[in-house]
Amino acid sequence: MKLLEHEAKSLLSTYQLPVPRCFIVDSASMEPAFLPCVLKSQVPTGGRGKAGGVKVVNSTKEFHQVAAAMLQLDIKGYKPQVLLAEEVVSIKRELYVSLLIDYSAAAITVMSHPRGGVEVEANNSDDFLQLPLDDLRAASLGLSEHYDLAGQQFALEALLEKLGRAFRTEDALLLEINPLILTTDNQLVIGDSKMEVDNASIFRHPTWQFADKPADVNFVTLNTTGNTATIANGAGLAMATVDSVYNAGLVPANFLDVGGGANEASVLAAFRRIKQFKNVTAIVINIFAGITRCDEIAKAILAARQQITDLPPLYIHLEGTNFEAAAAILSPENITLYASLDDSLAAATEQLA
Ligand code: GDP
Ligand code: MN
Repeated sequence: MKLLEHEAKSLLSTYQLPVPRCFIVDSASMEPAFLPCVLKSQVPTGGRGKAGGVKVVNSTKEFHQVAAAMLQLDIKGYKPQVLLAEEVVSIKRELYVSLLIDYSAAAITVMSHPRGGVEVEANNSDDFLQLPLDDLRAASLGLSEHYDLAGQQFALEALLEKLGRAFRTEDALLLEINPLILTTDNQLVIGDSKMEVDNASIFRHPTWQFADKPADVNFVTLNTTGNTATIANGAGLAMATVDSVYNAGLVPANFLDVGGGANEASVLAAFRRIKQFKNVTAIVINIFAGITRCDEIAKAILAARQQITDLPPLYIHLEGTNFEAAAAILSPENITLYASLDDSLAAATEQLA
């Protein structure tokens, strides 16, 4: 998954990397923590500078005007949920550095360019230098020569060491700093960062909470015009549920395995995806709870009924862990729990007939 700039910078700051002082702005929190500051649109795409997504503001009035406009500004099809506000950095030079994986060498490559910033793509590709990160001393010497910054070799070595540590520890696939700012008082500061981390490593990072984090449910669209949606747990039961829906003469729109760790949020997300199917007039829920807990599913069902308008009728069969707690949550709401999948399908078929 690709991290937003503020997510990447907040991660990088935990490695003592030099990121500017900052605060987050959204429609609920529109007051400047300090001024002047640079407002930066947090959209998952580059080229924000050129599109009006990076602006310096000096007064509270200007802050409010620019922030309100930037929250509404569409950049390459994206509108930001939040803005990043940073202290203004006085720029002497803008450099480029990135770390990427050299799969054939099973190693990390450092790529650099002495002229970073918004025009970096326009640079002649011959001017990019690539070095292995393994030998930090050699890489930092190479970088300081490439940047023509002989006096910064040790600062660059410290920077590369921390970037490399962040890259490995966070299971990154790409880490690009553009611009790496050389300030007028000769400090190196991370101006912008683009970071992508490996989804296959999510299990190693329980603290990751990023906007682009994939939902931990397995959802497969089967038929966009199907009349019956399915929610089940475990791939086997989810497949069997789809088969049973077919056998009952209904047309399943989807396969959905909410997984072992299903919670209210992930099941609610599943309901929202089901709502995309225009022809669905029945949702069949078939849960055999072991690790999954029936009461979590029940809470999600209640939340879905409250939060999603025009939710199709639910045909629910729950068994297993915390069934009684689930029944106690659902029966006061007059939500029927069927004794078997067959019973729930019979009811769904009758309603559709
Ligand atoms: P991008 O266009 O999406 O890559 O956004 P960047 O974060 O790279 O910002 C684009 C440009 O805005 C940078 O290359 C800088 O020239 C400028 N910029 C960003 N932050 C600052 C800052 O703190 N001070 C100043 N003066 N310029 C900045
Ligand atoms: Mn940039």
